[in-house]
Amino acid sequence: TELKNIRNFSIVAHIDHGKSTLADRLIQLTGTVAERDMKQQLLDAMDIERERGITIKANSVRIEYPAKDGQTYILNLIDTPGHVDFAYEVSRSMQAVEGSLLVVDATQGVEAQTLANVYQAIDADHEIVPVLNKIDLPAAEPERVKEQIEDVIGIDASEAVEISAKTGLGIPDVLEAIVHRLPAPTGDAAAPLKAMLVDSWYDPYLGVVVMIRVIDGVVKKGDQIKMMQTGATYKIDKLSVLKPQMVDIAELGPGEIGVFTASIKQVRDTKVGDTITHEKKPCDKPLPGFKPSIPVVFCGLFPVDANDFDDLRDAIEKLQLNDASFSSEMETSAALGFGFRCGFLGLLHLEVIRDRLEREYDLDLITTAPSVVYHIHMKDGTMQELHNPADMPDLTYVDHIEEPRIKATILVPDEYLGDVLKLCQDRRGIQLDLTYAGPRAMVVYDLPLNEVVFDFYDRLKSVTKGYASFDYQFTEYREDNLVKMQILVNDEPVDALSMMVHRDRAEQRGRAMCEKLKELIPRHMFKIPIQAAIGGKVIARETLSALRKDVTAKCYGGDATRKKKLLEKQKAGKKKMRQFGKVEIPQEAFISALKMD
Ligand code: GDP
Ligand code: MG
Repeated sequence: TELKNIRNFSIVAHIDHGKSTLADRLIQLTGTVAERDMKQQLLDAMDIERERGITIKANSVRIEYPAKDGQTYILNLIDTPGHVDFAYEVSRSMQAVEGSLLVVDATQGVEAQTLANVYQAIDADHEIVPVLNKIDLPAAEPERVKEQIEDVIGIDASEAVEISAKTGLGIPDVLEAIVHRLPAPTGDAAAPLKAMLVDSWYDPYLGVVVMIRVIDGVVKKGDQIKMMQTGATYKIDKLSVLKPQMVDIAELGPGEIGVFTASIKQVRDTKVGDTITHEKKPCDKPLPGFKPSIPVVFCGLFPVDANDFDDLRDAIEKLQLNDASFSSEMETSAALGFGFRCGFLGLLHLEVIRDRLEREYDLDLITTAPSVVYHIHMKDGTMQELHNPADMPDLTYVDHIEEPRIKATILVPDEYLGDVLKLCQDRRGIQLDLTYAGPRAMVVYDLPLNEVVFDFYDRLKSVTKGYASFDYQFTEYREDNLVKMQILVNDEPVDALSMMVHRDRAEQRGRAMCEKLKELIPRHMFKIPIQAAIGGKVIARETLSALRKDVTAKCYGGDATRKKKLLEKQKAGKKKMRQFGKVEIPQEAFISALKMD
């Protein structure tokens, strides 16, 4: 295909503003997929994504569009992951295209993820076409939202396309705008091959599938290629385009997007952002800015039933085939036995993986407190990365501790602003900016990531009745007065409940944890002290009083079925408990104890 007849684009939007619905319409209107094969949210392949309404892996579709000018264009849509946890993947997919449709729900206006994603598009030098969606709804205010786009984002919205992705209204205008307002790609077919690795995934039949965007040169089936970052070489077995199912193609030239397979064993052998070239005639230098995505949030995953350990290991290995961005290593905990310490790109990523392990692999898991990675600077001048508070070195050798900080952007209706400011202050936030975008305030805070990983997002949703939107990016590591707090149950430290806290917050946190655990741990036949301690010094304490009566005593021995039911219920409840010394702690305690309200 000639370069001038190619358009590559992505759709950026806040969650629920209609990105997937618009993609469906574009595919449908151009007859890319036969009507009988059309199903909703075609590009959101995984169930869990569909349920949560998020797209995790970038996906792509090639559309042929006969435009009003009489020429047929190839439109490549790359569907970028919509969440900040996947910021690096978003930025790479943005590099692979020349333009973006900025979809904004005309009843809602600009939200935090709209901003985060559109800034990525601007950074990638995209031409941007604003698209106002949901204009079929009576609450739509296209004029107000156009003004907001101009004020807040600073791009011209006078020619925004007004559509309803639901009814199909305005979709032909979107297609024309893609052709006439987005630039064609550039590139040199005669130059050595240079292609960007945009995404990769594991297909149970084909193995690892790699999505690429060709910058220069031409790639063909059978070619011997080389990945410039990893140095690995492969022979291309299959070369296809996505429509969105795979359709084989003889070659891909400059500006084109497609996928290949090459007997690659693991997704981890394919690094997003890597440069692919020919082994024999390589390009002189790789694409700039490559960086591997690194996990920033860690937690322990343990099977509730120790016998499920092997199943958990298998399940983690299977998930890693597809998602190389989460790491795992075996961990043993005095309290929880054998499990894995896993690293994730962020909290959402953690939740998604944990949900998949529990649902797709039917595992009951104990998730320990999520922790960020601390930099422990030792007195001898070395630095250790601390992934697990349980591994905190002896304080006499520690000089100082640094923690990761983030820049958080929150958009919130004015009436909830006070509560949001209070929440951020409570989490050791430093206010950086406060401006208004129409009736909504935009606050920017410098926050410690460790205060955000527990329940910040839940709290934000609840204090704003769901009206706030939130996004963040990592900024730097900074020193602060951080200590390790231990929790002792019946005088035994429970390592899985250890956490790093700021010294000034330790008493408050410790008290809250002890109170919560007192509610969460069932009463036993003996008294149980629950304590929080820093370096052996108790800073908070609660006592769970002893239980005397047999639960079945109330049944008066008469009603046998009732008695049986009660015992069964007790047994079922037991399955979700773990034994710590003489005390049984329910699974949910490990997460619930950390939520503060
Ligand atoms: P995404 O999260 O950006 O991919 O958003 P979706 O495409 O999943 O859409 C979110 C919700 O908005 C879904 O329930 C859609 O049916 C609905 N929706 C999308 N576009 C429109 C529209 O133009 N009008 C109306 N009324 N609803 C829409
Ligand atoms: Mg979607």
